[in-house]
Amino acid sequence: MASAMLRRHPCNAVPSGLPDDAVRLEVPLQAPAHRRSGAGVDGLEVSDVDRHERLTAMREGRLGSVHSWELVTAVDGPGTRLTTFLSGCPLQCLYCHNPDTLAMKDGQPVTSDELLGRIARYTAVFRATGGGITLSGGEVLMQPAFAARILRGAKELGIHTAIDTSGYLGAAASDTMLDDVDLVLLDVKSGDPQTYREVTGRELEPTLQFGRRLAARADGPEVWVRFVLVPGLTDDVDNVEAVAAYTASLNETRPGTVTRVEVLPFHQMGRDKWDALGREYRLGDTEPPSVELVARVRDQFRAHGLQTY
Ligand code: SF4
Repeated sequence: MASAMLRRHPCNAVPSGLPDDAVRLEVPLQAPAHRRSGAGVDGLEVSDVDRHERLTAMREGRLGSVHSWELVTAVDGPGTRLTTFLSGCPLQCLYCHNPDTLAMKDGQPVTSDELLGRIARYTAVFRATGGGITLSGGEVLMQPAFAARILRGAKELGIHTAIDTSGYLGAAASDTMLDDVDLVLLDVKSGDPQTYREVTGRELEPTLQFGRRLAARADGPEVWVRFVLVPGLTDDVDNVEAVAAYTASLNETRPGTVTRVEVLPFHQMGRDKWDALGREYRLGDTEPPSVELVARVRDQFRAHGLQTY
């Protein structure tokens, strides 16, 4: 997932037209460099159920493990969005900005009804801004039943829906669930299988397959591809070329599938979380990419006819 240079506005004022507990957020000057998580589950009632009932409810999607939620503008999809960060992720990205979301057990139990109630409160905001909801993480597809319920509930409210995913667990997304997804933010972390393994500890192929499946759907969702640019790790010309060629191939399958590519420059903003969790952070000496490097990589995508930011 991607993270951000997103800050609450210093005056912390509430803009007109937003609910009382909404916060005004500065619009980042560029796409966020790697996914950040929200501040917590404030405003959501945490469910108190015993372990057996909890497992049953999670299997059925009535209960989810939620890290946090927040209201954002200009990230995670169009308009103002309520982004929910679900706990649990099967990847171990070296640059992960949310290492505190990786274990599902560390999330807070929140019912689908509770989250949908929160979402419903912002319907007017979504309508006014062309926004909606985004399910992120962690990895949203670690909790497919919960995600499916939230997406269905949002569509019943007429709300635009997005999921932010690595695609690694794409097989867990049912066709019925995908019917309720308007936009997929697909993180393609590398085009080279070996580099992907180095970055994430997992295989690349499931992500590629998921993207192809999305493109093969006649009424499939719009896709934004995200690529985190890490000097010395993912910046190799051939690696970038592989991501760009793959992304362009999705548009050959279904023209207009990928409407946007976001090249997200690596930065060190997630480092403190690794330290706080007592986990080894291996990119401590890695510098953010230079302006020239970012431009070169964006140009590689543009050379494939892709709208790139
Ligand atoms: S480890 Fe998971 S949450 Fe962290 S960046 Fe990778 S996919 Fe995102």
